[in-house]
Amino acid sequence: MLEKLFSLGYSKTFAERYYELWGERALAIAEAMEKPLPRCFRVNTLRAEVSKVTKLLNKKGFQFKRVPWTREGFCLTREPFSIASTPEYLGGLLYIQEASSMYPPVALEPKSGEILADMAAAPGGKTSYIAQLMRNGGIIYAFDVGEERLKETRLNLSRLGVTNTVLFHKSSLHIDELGVKFDKILLDAPCTGSGTIHKNPERKASRTMEDIKFCQSLQMKLLEKGLSVLKKGGILVYSTCSLEPEENEFVIQWVLDNFDVELLPLRYGEPALMKPFGIELSEEIAKVRRFYPDKHGTSGFFVAKIRKL
Ligand code: SAM
Repeated sequence: MLEKLFSLGYSKTFAERYYELWGERALAIAEAMEKPLPRCFRVNTLRAEVSKVTKLLNKKGFQFKRVPWTREGFCLTREPFSIASTPEYLGGLLYIQEASSMYPPVALEPKSGEILADMAAAPGGKTSYIAQLMRNGGIIYAFDVGEERLKETRLNLSRLGVTNTVLFHKSSLHIDELGVKFDKILLDAPCTGSGTIHKNPERKASRTMEDIKFCQSLQMKLLEKGLSVLKKGGILVYSTCSLEPEENEFVIQWVLDNFDVELLPLRYGEPALMKPFGIELSEEIAKVRRFYPDKHGTSGFFVAKIRKL
């Protein structure tokens, strides 16, 4: 089993970790990540109704099935030519987005008129979905540090007709300087990205434990800052595209141990790992969710929904 993970290109450290976490399933997860993900898209209801866009695409020969956790999301089963070259894409009627990536905005349940923050926004996939769910009402303060990624974000938000978002080229570790208290916050955190090996196969061998520790430390700092500017009763959704418990369950356990918060249940995905590497976690952790390439046909993805008490 370990030999097979090595032959797929995983370093000894990560092959052993994954075997310890998932046993024989580690190979199913790794093999699923060798295959490309289905191309999925979200209809942008700021520009057109779902049924109108699906009909236009069907007429051109595109076929797709609905993503279970969103009414606007679909994954292509037939793509006669690149969907990115259709007038529907170019005119901002849809956004190409991985299926698991559609879940955090849905889990956040943003409402028109609320004050939101997106603490790691570029290239704007989730920001634009949140704006759409808010029907461009209220306001989103969106932060990112990646200059090139912010240029892409600006283009995406403009193509999609998003008008309720202010973009900041700044670390969201400074979000408190705005002096704003938020109803809801999305932290789609910077992470090691081990759930996206299908897109970045070099990560099988290049990532180290130091990378995980670095990301965990940043994730905790961002969470602490986010919780400090969240209103009482406000909601923070935390997500990563990492498979590592140190960036997921352990971070959420740390939040439970250090802040006055509760976790809210999530309907989709698999319950999180309750005893990763033999470390027993709070029962509450069962409420957070993981998405897996072998089971859900998505990236490896993690979502937690936190309410500040
Ligand atoms: N939410 C985005 C989307 O759905 O399109 C993807 C976000 S990506 C997972 C993480 C982002 O965090 C990267 O764009 C990175 O530049 C940004 N980032 C890293 N450190 C940051 C910080 N201190 N403050 C704000 N953004 C940061």
